[in-house]
Amino acid sequence: PAMLGILGGGQLGRMFATAAKTMGYRVTVLDPDASAPAADFADVHLCKPYTDRDALQQLVDTCAAITTEFENVNADSMRWLAEQGLRVSPSGDCVAIAQDRIAEKTFIRNAGLATAPFLAILNAGDLPDDLSPYLPGILKTARLGYDGKGQVRVKTPEDVRYALSELKHQPCVLEKMLPLVSEVSVIVTRSRAGEVVSFPPAENEHANGILDVSIVPARIADAVTARARDMAMTLAEKLDYVGVLAVEFFVLEGDELVINEMAPRPHNSGHYTLDATLTTQFEQQVRAMCGLYPGRTELLKPVVMVNLLGDVWGEDGSEPNWEILMTAPNSKLHLYGKKEARVGRKMGHFNVLAEDANDALEQARAIMETLGNQRSES
Ligand code: ATP
Ligand code: MG
Ligand code: MG
Repeated sequence: PAMLGILGGGQLGRMFATAAKTMGYRVTVLDPDASAPAADFADVHLCKPYTDRDALQQLVDTCAAITTEFENVNADSMRWLAEQGLRVSPSGDCVAIAQDRIAEKTFIRNAGLATAPFLAILNAGDLPDDLSPYLPGILKTARLGYDGKGQVRVKTPEDVRYALSELKHQPCVLEKMLPLVSEVSVIVTRSRAGEVVSFPPAENEHANGILDVSIVPARIADAVTARARDMAMTLAEKLDYVGVLAVEFFVLEGDELVINEMAPRPHNSGHYTLDATLTTQFEQQVRAMCGLYPGRTELLKPVVMVNLLGDVWGEDGSEPNWEILMTAPNSKLHLYGKKEARVGRKMGHFNVLAEDANDALEQARAIMETLGNQRSES
């Protein structure tokens, strides 16, 4: 069987490996961490830095195709692999755009799609006299931010100057704070031949900057659902993207949609596809990188996905008692096999399926409450 390679061995790499192996492929994971979640699911684990030439050469020598599971993979490594004749999807160029908020937002806007009003700040000396179109706003580092890290809320031009120095004058975007009605995301799959499909939008709620719950179908009008899917697919087409692309949206008053950001990979908000659609987002990644047709995306049943953070593990690192999840009729637990639980660390998730999304949400909340109470009692 053909060998597929993936750069990164976190939980997304682990779920990718599962999907690949279900389809009969073998998997090589490149990740410098010996205890990466995907390591024990891989046929070969190259425990080397992402720029290690010998490791990259081994991928060229042994793999039929390569993909990535994390956004901050070295884009030049991906370009180098492609230059050696390997099928690399998504391309290093697409990954490079998604890694840099300035490039990302500029690309989205040039594609004719809406973003929040933003100002690219390469250095503090560049600041225009009038910042009012972007205030009150959020200053975000152009690179390496996730889960709301590297972001500062600012109200005045003085706040902006102070925050820039706090962020050590890295390149940033200053983005106008928008009044959000809700947030949704769409996962798109685009094949090598240009076939493009999208999963139904997920409605996302965050807690402390980290995704908490995804609700599907999203509680937005059908026309907004259709528009979000269209915008996400248009973005994939304009990028000439091959693979799985996650697109985050803000829903504003009057059903206006703006794109917040994208991720060049499967996404936490797409984990509902593990149980509620025939094809998972990880199978889509396998299909796309192998030049196969994308799978079906319709929702089989309303679903709510809840992230399980280290917060519900015991102070001594002990696992929660999963009885509530084992006995709940419509729920499914997924754990990532991480050895160490820390506050805010994604340890797993569960999906709850029900006749409608609100019912699923109610059941999910009751399960979370039991898990939280267990912890405070122990
Ligand atoms: P992720 O973990 O999704 O990669 P991130 O660190 O890249 O997150 P963003 O997605 O840009 O950060 O922002 C995190 C959250 O902050 C958003 O989901 C949204 O709730 C809020 N937010 C960001 N930008 C704005 C804005 N312009 N107006 C209002 N809220 C915003
Ligand atoms: Mg992000
Ligand atoms: Mg985000």
